[in-house]
Amino acid sequence: MKQIQNYIDGSFVPGSREFADVNPADGNVIAQVAEADASQVDQAVQAGRHALDGEWGRLAIRDRAARLHKVADVIEKRFDCFVQAEVADTGKPVSLASKLDVPRAAANFRVFADLIRISGLESFQTQTPDGVNALNYAIRKPLGVVGVITPWNLPLLLLTWKVAPALACGNAVVVKPSEETPATATLLAEAMHEAGIPSGVYNVVHGFGHDSAGEFLTQHPGVNAITFTGESRTGAAIMKAAAATVKPVSFELGGKNAAIVFADCNFEETVNGLSEAIFLNTGQVCLCAERVYVEQKIFDRLLDALKKKAETLNLGWPGDAATDFGPLISAQHREKVLSYFQLAKEEGATLITGGGTPKFGDARDHGFYVQPTIYTGLSESARCVKEEIFGPVCHVAAFDSEEEAVAMANDTKYGLAASVWTSDLKRGHRVARQMNTGITWVNCWFLRDLRTPFGGVGLSGIGREGGIHSLNFYSELNNICIRL
Ligand code: NAD
Repeated sequence: MKQIQNYIDGSFVPGSREFADVNPADGNVIAQVAEADASQVDQAVQAGRHALDGEWGRLAIRDRAARLHKVADVIEKRFDCFVQAEVADTGKPVSLASKLDVPRAAANFRVFADLIRISGLESFQTQTPDGVNALNYAIRKPLGVVGVITPWNLPLLLLTWKVAPALACGNAVVVKPSEETPATATLLAEAMHEAGIPSGVYNVVHGFGHDSAGEFLTQHPGVNAITFTGESRTGAAIMKAAAATVKPVSFELGGKNAAIVFADCNFEETVNGLSEAIFLNTGQVCLCAERVYVEQKIFDRLLDALKKKAETLNLGWPGDAATDFGPLISAQHREKVLSYFQLAKEEGATLITGGGTPKFGDARDHGFYVQPTIYTGLSESARCVKEEIFGPVCHVAAFDSEEEAVAMANDTKYGLAASVWTSDLKRGHRVARQMNTGITWVNCWFLRDLRTPFGGVGLSGIGREGGIHSLNFYSELNNICIRL
C-alpha cells in the first residue's frame, strides 16, 4: 500500500492519523494518507516563516523566476508520473490529464515566472498646489506565509495556479489539497526539492476541512493570506475563520453557468462546444454549463444533437486512451448527483438521456460512474435549475428573444462563467457585456489565457487571479514617497 505523507520544512512526515485515498473508477483503496494535526500545521507555518528569513527571502527576482522554470522542467520530465497519479486519484481520463491538467501545471509556473520578471509598478511625479515636488513609487513585497486550499476536480492545475504566483511574489506556502486527491500535491513537493526550492517554502498538510488541517490553517494567526478554490459554502466558513485575524482572501467558488445558443450559430461547432462544456471531466469543472438556453427555432434539433453526443461518449477505464468520460470523484458525490436526478423527476423534468448509473459487468460497477444526463421541461425556479450539481448534467430550455435569454441566464446567485453561441459578432459582444459573470466566452468554452483576470461575481467568488491580478493579490504593495 502506498503511503502519502505530509511535507513540512523539506521532509516527508507521517501524520497523527491516516485516511484512505480511493480510486473512483473501481472503489479500491490506493493509498493511506497521513493526516496533519494542529501542531503539524503549526510546524508547516513556522517553516514557511523561517524560509522567508532565509535564502528564499534574499533571492533576486531573476533567480526566483529561474527556479520556478526549473519546477516546470521537473513536472515535464516526470510528466507520466504526474499523469498517472492524477488519473488514479480523480478517475479522469488519461487523455484529459495529459492534455490539460499536467501541461497546465507546468505552464502555471512558466507564466508567473516570466510575469514577475517583466511586471513593473506605477510611479508618479507629484506636485502639490503649494509647489512641493515629490516622487511616488510602489514596491512589491511578499505577503508572508500563504495558505492554499484546493478542491479535487483539477487538483494539480488549480493548486499550481495559486502556488506559482505566490512563490513568484516571494511568499512561502502551506498547501492543503483536497482529501480526495492528495497525490499530485505531494509529488510536487519532490519536484520543488529537485528544482532547488529551499526547505520550508512549499509545505503540504493533508486532511479535511472542519476540525482538521483546513480549519487549522485558516485559523492560524501566522498565515498572512488564504487563497481558496471550492464550494461557495466552504468559502463562507473560511471567510468567517479568516475574519478573526483579518486575513486577505481570494476565493474561486461554485457556479451554475449558462450557455446561450442563438439560431444563427454554427450548428456543428456549437454542439461540439456544448458537449465539452457540459460533460468535460464528467461535468466536474466549475466552468461547466448546467443551464443551456436555446433559441426556439432550433430547440428540437439542438436537443436531439446533444442527446446523440451524450450517448456516444465513451464511459471507460480512466487509463484507457479511448475513454472520454470517467467516474465522479467519490461515492458521496455520486449520491449527491443521483439525488438531483431524483429531484429533477420530482420537479417534473422530461428526461432526454441518462438519469442513472451505467452497468459495466466488471470492477467499474464498484466505481462512481453516472450517465451523461440531459433534462428539459423544468421551470426556471426549480432547484435543479438553481443549484450547482457539479456533475455531467444540464437542463435545456427554449427562449424567443435575446432579452429573454439574457434575463434567464442572469437569474442566478452565482456568476462565474457563461458562453454565447452566435454567428452575429455584434450580438456576441452585446450579450457578453450583459452577462453577470467573471468570464464570458463567445463561440468557445474553457479557452484560457493565463494573463487574463479570472474569478466570479456573487456566490462564485471574491477577487480576481490570473496575470497581474494574481501578482497583486500575492503581494503587499508599498508606496514610497520621496520629497524632491
Ligand atoms: P469543497 O469546498 O468541499 O473543498 C475544497 C477544499 O476546502 C478541500 O481541500 C477541503 O478539505 C477544504 N475545506 C472544506 N471545508 C473547510 C473548512 N471549513 N475550512 C478550511 N478548508 C475546508 O469543494 P470540493 O467539493 O473539493 O470542490 C468542488 C467545488 O469547487 C464546486 O463547488 C466547484 O464549483 C468549485 N470549484 C470552483 C472553481 C473556480 O475556479 N471558481 C474551480 C474548481 C472548483
